[in-house]
Amino acid sequence: MTAKIRTRIAPSPTGFLHLGTARTALYSWAYARHYGGEFVLRIEDTDVARSTQDSVEQILASMQWLGLDYDEGPIYQMQRLARYQAVAAELIAADKAYFCYCTPAELDELRESQRARGEKTRYDGRWRPEPGKLLPPVPQGVAPVVRFKNPLAGDVSWVDLVKGLITINNREIDDLIIMRPASEAGTAGIPTYNFAVVVDDWDMQISHVFRGDEHVNNTPWQINIFNALGAPLPQFGHVPVILGDDGQKLSKRRGAVSVTAYEEEGYLPEAMLNYLSRLGWSHGDEELFSREQLVAWFDGSHLSKSPAQWDPAKLEWVNSHYIKQADDLRLASLVSAQLARRGIEVGDAAQLPAMCALFKDRCATTVVLADWLAMYFAPVSASAEDRVAQISETNLPALAALAAKFAEINWDKVAIQAAVKETASAFGLKMPQLAIPLRLLVCGRTQTPSVDAVLVLFPKEIVMERLRKL
Ligand code: GLU
Repeated sequence: MTAKIRTRIAPSPTGFLHLGTARTALYSWAYARHYGGEFVLRIEDTDVARSTQDSVEQILASMQWLGLDYDEGPIYQMQRLARYQAVAAELIAADKAYFCYCTPAELDELRESQRARGEKTRYDGRWRPEPGKLLPPVPQGVAPVVRFKNPLAGDVSWVDLVKGLITINNREIDDLIIMRPASEAGTAGIPTYNFAVVVDDWDMQISHVFRGDEHVNNTPWQINIFNALGAPLPQFGHVPVILGDDGQKLSKRRGAVSVTAYEEEGYLPEAMLNYLSRLGWSHGDEELFSREQLVAWFDGSHLSKSPAQWDPAKLEWVNSHYIKQADDLRLASLVSAQLARRGIEVGDAAQLPAMCALFKDRCATTVVLADWLAMYFAPVSASAEDRVAQISETNLPALAALAAKFAEINWDKVAIQAAVKETASAFGLKMPQLAIPLRLLVCGRTQTPSVDAVLVLFPKEIVMERLRKL
């Protein structure tokens, strides 16, 4: 079959786009782009109680930040209810699904008795119509759910793109609920995840489904529903979880933060894209690669079968690489946003790109870059400890003389360098004996790139003023 490659990401807007889903989105996107196919964004918002507009917006923002452009969507499941209701009705009419009037209390009782007998808990098919079987009388006032008539025997198998052949016997799985009543009164209902996902993947002609391996257990049901509908099966690839650095699954409560949190923490989207895609997939020994290379290489092979481990130090390393490479004008705008978050407004700061150029090599994130550049826009204070250690009777007069010299010179690197040198030798000091206290007073720290390069980016008056505060 040479059908068009169509992939999708289908997040539920019940929280932010977490790292696992972002990585699956990245794989789905890269796969579609690699094969010249299409990528669809679908919002699975049928969990009405937990879905929020705020989550939808966060998901969209994360996708945009990562540059995962989609060809269709966002498509909202709650806007497609009539379609699921119609397909459910067709399945019922074809004797492939049925109404079940069990109350929650009855189901609890069923589970309890199965547990008591040491059996696996499962629906017992009491409302499943069969030739010659007498169904219970329909109770008053119970809004029924719709259950799928799962085949009673035989195997469900698929060759998973990540895990290889997976086979489940139908005896292992029961008749799952595909529609729940929208209200106690009505039967026109809301689809469950396993049903909506099939109708959508079918309608949207999805050819390849990449998703987290927490869904492996759902796939046999979904395959049976595809078959019952006479719909072509997509290929499935279940990607292992991401573990935290403590070896536990990343979860909302355990260290998993939203993709946008990394933006705030000063990571660049190209670093995130590189790091996330490498986490669970490889192309030879390549560690650093561009979006274009990812698309060129990502053909669905070399996805790892074992869980990946989140490694913050490696992410930092990848980010430093991209910060070094980043255009200084772009860094300037990112860093000014970081500074603004701290209440430091940089105004038109013509020197900001040059400042970024000077410091970016030593910065793993734009937050660290902002830590450095804050000294240009806000007062600094040297710690008392440093002052005691660095400023003494020996260098005080030299610092005062240097301030006086600065007042007279042209404010350029050569002149600054010469002024520091001359003053040091006039007072019989080695360069560091003057340059270190000078850094401390002007920059608030004792180590910086070369002092002339750092100072020239300050307005001269600020340097003079900080030196006057001796
Ligand atoms: N809404 C599901 C999730 O967020 C989608 C799973 C799937 O891709 O089928 O886990």
